[in-house]
Amino acid sequence: SIVVTGATGHLGRHVIEGLLEKVPADQITAVVRDADKAAGFAARGVKIAVANYNEPETFGPLFAAGDKVLLISGNEFDKGRVAQHQVVLDATKAAGVALFAYTSAPGTLTAALADDHKGTEKAILESGVPYALLRNGWYNENYTENLAPVLEYGAVTQAAGDGKVASAARADYAAAAVAVLTGEGHENKTYELSGDTAWSFAEYAALVAERSGKEIVYNAVSVEALTGILTGAGLPGPLAAILAGVDASIEKGELAGTSGDLSRLTGRPTTPVAESIAAALKG
Ligand code: NDP
Repeated sequence: SIVVTGATGHLGRHVIEGLLEKVPADQITAVVRDADKAAGFAARGVKIAVANYNEPETFGPLFAAGDKVLLISGNEFDKGRVAQHQVVLDATKAAGVALFAYTSAPGTLTAALADDHKGTEKAILESGVPYALLRNGWYNENYTENLAPVLEYGAVTQAAGDGKVASAARADYAAAAVAVLTGEGHENKTYELSGDTAWSFAEYAALVAERSGKEIVYNAVSVEALTGILTGAGLPGPLAAILAGVDASIEKGELAGTSGDLSRLTGRPTTPVAESIAAALKG
């Protein structure tokens, strides 16, 4: 079987859809913590397994020898994600899976949220399980799903200076994961996945202006100022600091790499950010 965790998340849903186009539904297992959210997949013949990273026993019986597994990294930043991911890794190792793919972060990224990914990668390498590291760059949607304040204030407010982001759509990263899970020869490979081209926030502001017909400027602020703006908008302090820290990494060029791995794996160009902006504005 092909087993996908986080299957009811944004990325996971794209992965299951992509798999359904390539393999029979009964060869796919969607691992979810809430079966109700997976009812649509179940209706189409996808096997559903209910398990939670915080309850190791739920992963015990889940995997079989020869399975290809995709661990989509969790989003509970305060719950110790390395230990959560280790639960899945241990269960796959015990079962003897054929491939353990993991959605990591770019190797160049030094922002705090990269620590969990580096810790998980280390555990994977130490486990001896055949692995594929999918070092996902940034999603277009990280920005295009947050256009409301940009349109309201006429400004893209970031702390990234002239730094660039080589982002791609979630669907592109999902297609790469599908290629790895359904293809051959991906054992013990590391892929630096990103968009084909990198853009700056000044360019991004110009694109939003063009597509929306509104005047939009890039308001470049300091990391401290952005942290204050985000907490002022209601984000918890630690999360605001993480997001502002990502901008510092962007200014240093840590999310600008364009290795071409993503379009090579999927066999098509990545989705330009302009296309995701247009889709978001259409609603
Ligand atoms: P989502 O937040 O939509 O998905 C996270 C998934 O993890 C959900 O399916 C969620 O389950 C599942 N999950 C979280 N905690 C647990 C748990 N304790 N037990 C079982 N499942 C759990 O994120 P995306 O799909 O957009 O992105 C996937 C991952 O990529 C994120 O979790 C994050 O690690 C990382 N990420 C990457 C970004 C990038 O730009 N490259 C940006 C943002 C995140 P449920 O469906 O029940 O909520």
